[in-house]
Amino acid sequence: MKKTLFVMLLLVFVFLTGCTTNSSSLNTETKKATVVNGTMKVHFIDVGQGDAILIQQGESTMLIDAGDNQYGETVVNYLKDQGVQTLDYVIGTHPHADHIGGLDVVINNFEVKKIIMPKVGHTTKTYEDLLLAIKNKGLKITTPVVGETNDLGDSQFTIIGPNAESYNSLNDYSVAIKLAYGNTSFVFTGDAEENAEKEMLALGIDLKADVLKIPHHGSSSSLSDAFLKAVAPKIGVIQLGADNDYGHPHEETMAKLAGVELYRTDNNGTVVIESDGTNLSVKTQKAGNDTSTANTQKVVQQENTATTADTGSYIGNINSHVYHTVTCSSLPLEKNRVYFDTEEEAIAAGYRPHEECNK
Ligand SMILES: [Zn+2]
Ligand SMILES: [Zn+2]
Repeated sequence: MKKTLFVMLLLVFVFLTGCTTNSSSLNTETKKATVVNGTMKVHFIDVGQGDAILIQQGESTMLIDAGDNQYGETVVNYLKDQGVQTLDYVIGTHPHADHIGGLDVVINNFEVKKIIMPKVGHTTKTYEDLLLAIKNKGLKITTPVVGETNDLGDSQFTIIGPNAESYNSLNDYSVAIKLAYGNTSFVFTGDAEENAEKEMLALGIDLKADVLKIPHHGSSSSLSDAFLKAVAPKIGVIQLGADNDYGHPHEETMAKLAGVELYRTDNNGTVVIESDGTNLSVKTQKAGNDTSTANTQKVVQQENTATTADTGSYIGNINSHVYHTVTCSSLPLEKNRVYFDTEEEAIAAGYRPHEECNK
């Protein structure tokens, strides 16, 4: 309780002393009608087991995470396909490789105006590579300040985590934000676990949002009942890889999400949610197993790729996004195959190697 009070006081302080541009810091509590003219697009890029989210509003862009090391190029190519040249904000939620692994490649390829990362280090080569890329680009890391709101074009995002100086779990350091565009809103919390969720709830900020990036790839260590109830999303997106080593998404989490319109990058591929300020529309790269609102046009394209390129040295499974050597003993069904000439080509298309192939 003491801590809650402290955080509240801190917020009031931040609000009062408040930075010129942040006068709407706590306005998320009073959801007033906001008129917007354009659209905002949120792309949950399929990077297998990991997160990578591109947000575009007008000319402004933000990237949250960039998947594991091998997906750096995938993310760069995806951003280039969307016409991205400059990133106004890059958020590296926390130093785990499945979030920051591809960020060094992204930083090397685009102009980055601001990079936000939590104040915590990690002794991995992946993390060191990122720090080096930041340094070489002459960038400075901005530490997230909870309660601070920044504009991203006509949208605004408020930092809601991390709320403590130190945690036992690296996941709890995740930079978490609430993003609002017109009357629609999204919550992204990286891999934040129950402990960090509790602190976000204690902030007293209205966490209710239309869309929730399901925390921590659908792990049961995140998404407490209280947090889900507070966000009360209509739509949930889980970023994860097929047959991942962690058993994500966990059954307990899936059971909690029974009433939520759910998309998952292992089944749906890349998921794009567009907001016009009032309504949301969802497009998916693949139909997936359990959604009806998929973008059928893209599904057709996917099938064409599979039938026109009918020879290749590597065989990908269009459902799991895993690729195999032609001699692998567990190849996908004919109808689920896509062929690649090289492993690089497979990886660039967002596929990952089958662990058992080369044994
Ligand atoms: Zn993760
Ligand atoms: Zn993590």
